[in-house]
Amino acid sequence: MHSIIDVFSFTLNSSNRLSNKKQIGCYKTMIHSQLPLIDLHRHLDGNIRPQTIWSLAQKHDIVLPETNFEDFIPHVQVQGSESDLLAFLSKLDWGVTVLKTLDDCKRISYENVEDAYNAGIHYAELRFSPYYMAMNNNLDVADVVAAVIDGVKDACNTYDVQINLIGILSRTFGVEKCQAELDALLAHKDHLIAVDLAGDEYNFPGEMFVSHFKQVQKAQLNVTVHAGEAAGAESIWQAINQLHAQRIGHGVACRTDEKLMDYMLQHDIAIESCLTSNFQTGTIKDLSQHPIKQFLAKGLLVCLNTDDPGVQGIELKNEYNIARNTLGFNDKEIMQLQENSLKACFLSASEKLALRNKIRNIV
Ligand SMILES: [Zn+2]
Repeated sequence: MHSIIDVFSFTLNSSNRLSNKKQIGCYKTMIHSQLPLIDLHRHLDGNIRPQTIWSLAQKHDIVLPETNFEDFIPHVQVQGSESDLLAFLSKLDWGVTVLKTLDDCKRISYENVEDAYNAGIHYAELRFSPYYMAMNNNLDVADVVAAVIDGVKDACNTYDVQINLIGILSRTFGVEKCQAELDALLAHKDHLIAVDLAGDEYNFPGEMFVSHFKQVQKAQLNVTVHAGEAAGAESIWQAINQLHAQRIGHGVACRTDEKLMDYMLQHDIAIESCLTSNFQTGTIKDLSQHPIKQFLAKGLLVCLNTDDPGVQGIELKNEYNIARNTLGFNDKEIMQLQENSLKACFLSASEKLALRNKIRNIV
């Protein structure tokens, strides 16, 4: 007979470092093995392996700031807590700088699926910004979307993991660039499950992108929006009311607004929490005080995710470990987080049931 609780342990090595020193080393974590392990907030272009960045740079004669791989890691992986969101996001830049060809885009997409599979994930919604991936080497943005779709499809034929793709509009590059990015995404809309708005929330508020999300709605794609991470609760209200967000990425600022939490509870609007990311971007100073506790106690549809695992040096099970050991979540609460991921994901009702049954049958 199988145990309901799956106990496992692993060791972090130097290239897979976790910022919170208390968690470095060998430790144990627990998830419910009869429920799927799901990552709904996972950036494909924030999860480019440092080794791959190194090898693509060599292949394309791109000069990196270090001549030794170990010394290069801090340029692409957060080593502690960064000063703010923008400092954190700068760690992603080398990963896309080395994407010289569409084959490179395909390769990193394939590796993303491989990484999700190796991390024990059963279902993931991988998000990517095609303009961010294309811009350094003047690749065609729609071709980048096609390359990502290809790489993911190939890998899904090899690895037993279910993947859907979310297209990102990178607000940091402004309204026009986001329109071009949206056009490229909509050209491949049948291969996407949703559209997201990410980047510099503070300087590029959601109000600037209302017309973009009208088009997303018209295309009948789902909507998730990064909000309440670098800006306040008003940014979350705006994402819900004007951009029609069904899920909110991070949503840390919800904690300051009871009415907003009540509204999200009534309307089943999910919060995609990313614990380590919030610490590393300086959004949360002390992980033990993360509002996910408050959200879960209130019955909100909050789930646990990675964000940029390659840049953060973490995987999803680390986050469950933090939930249990740093936030003190018990078995029931861990189970609720896993149930919430299944409920909040953009699969259809029948696909959710099939995924649940598949995990029950294989454990
Ligand atoms: Zn994110």
